[in-house]
Amino acid sequence: MNTEQVDVLVIGAGPAGTVAASIVHHAGFKVKIVEKQLFPRFVIGESLLPRCMEALAEAGFIDAVTEKGFQQKAGAKFVKDGEICDYQFADQFTPGYNWTWQVPRADFDKTLADTVGQMGVPVHYETSVTNIVFNGQDSVTTVEDKDGKQTEIAARFIIDGSGYGRVIPKLFNLDRPSTQVPRKALFVHTVDKKRSMADEPNRITIVVHQPGVWIWIIPFANGITSLGFVGNPEFFKQYEGTDEEILRGLIASQPYFAERFEDVEFAFAPKTLESWSATTDKFYGDGFVLTGNVTEFLDPIFSSGVMLATVSSQTAAKLVIRKLNGEAVDWDTEYMQHMMQGVDTFRSYVTSWYEGVLDTIFFSNNQDPLVKSQICSVLAGYVWDLDNPYVKNHETALHKLARTITLRDMVEFGAESGT
Ligand code: FAD
Repeated sequence: MNTEQVDVLVIGAGPAGTVAASIVHHAGFKVKIVEKQLFPRFVIGESLLPRCMEALAEAGFIDAVTEKGFQQKAGAKFVKDGEICDYQFADQFTPGYNWTWQVPRADFDKTLADTVGQMGVPVHYETSVTNIVFNGQDSVTTVEDKDGKQTEIAARFIIDGSGYGRVIPKLFNLDRPSTQVPRKALFVHTVDKKRSMADEPNRITIVVHQPGVWIWIIPFANGITSLGFVGNPEFFKQYEGTDEEILRGLIASQPYFAERFEDVEFAFAPKTLESWSATTDKFYGDGFVLTGNVTEFLDPIFSSGVMLATVSSQTAAKLVIRKLNGEAVDWDTEYMQHMMQGVDTFRSYVTSWYEGVLDTIFFSNNQDPLVKSQICSVLAGYVWDLDNPYVKNHETALHKLARTITLRDMVEFGAESGT
């Protein structure tokens, strides 16, 4: 079997893999990406967060993505029973990017992969990792192409950005069940001819359908809008019929957009995804680091997936460079704990969302502008800014705020009703 020698082998050509590959390549190392599928390929995760722009910029991807003319995203809108809460990233507390993109991922991911290829990183499509043997930090990875031909790649370091493929956790039994409640999504791309009915397309809209069930509306620049229902798997089981019949019935039952999406043309048959949350014991080991979805993916509600994928790769790539240059790296503090700061902040927001705590905050009257700007920063992905109390105290701050709002509303209601 042929054996090729590289400095860094990157598994997966999604946002995690390409960002990491570009940064390590620019430091002068020989990098190679192996990707199981042929691009363009469908993947969900279409609404980005401003914080990922910093990672895309460091990877040198901004110009190529800008040229594609994707829909710009300036905020996030939440809707419940006709009430609207609009967050504009321009109002956020933490300095940083105040916009990003909404992207059909097939096109976006191909743009990143093509760009990293043009930079000089070979991307081998339809090539799957089947085995890895570590000898200290060095490794030999067996890959198989679509014709079944096997080759070996010797590497000084591996960056695993294989997303839902979870290559290293599966090969080395590092996978652990997530503590997140299992959820299911039913989604489609629509030919959105009545888009002008809504104050879009420059934001994601999240509609609360009923407690624990919500809908995403993500308009793209090409006139297609991504629409998805997310809820407990039991919620979907009460409906009979094909996925298309169930989705059309759900659309008709949602007053916020029934008129806009009734009889809308679907660009493909609706898709479902279920129980996507997963985690691992550790995000690193001798000779490898896990980035992106392989580390931990919580829930789609706040569109944190691509941001965490790109930021983890941005962080990991710089540590890999230091390691290959012979410097000491404290992977636990500098990588795992750092990433968990962001993941755990989102975990608190995801939990608060499904508990209804964020409903109380989002749809309250007279939101304090400072607090709103601080929460807005989290929604923009700036979850490492410990000057923001809604990051620093993420475990308690939202519950405290919701209690204060509830008490204030009770007092105001009492004063109005004279009780
Ligand atoms: P991926 O994009 O999955 O890329 C990994 C690549 O690795 C794939 O191309 C795969 O083919 C390749 N691979 C796998 N196995 C192998 C192997 N053995 N050998 C070689 N290559 C391999 N995120 C957002 O930011 N915004 C959203 O709006 C959003 N919505 C979501 C909605 C739902 C219902 C779900 C489930 C997730 C959503 N996400 C969202 C999350 C998003 O899908 C992921 O976080 C994101 O795609 C992670 O990027 P990645 O690069 O880590 O992995």
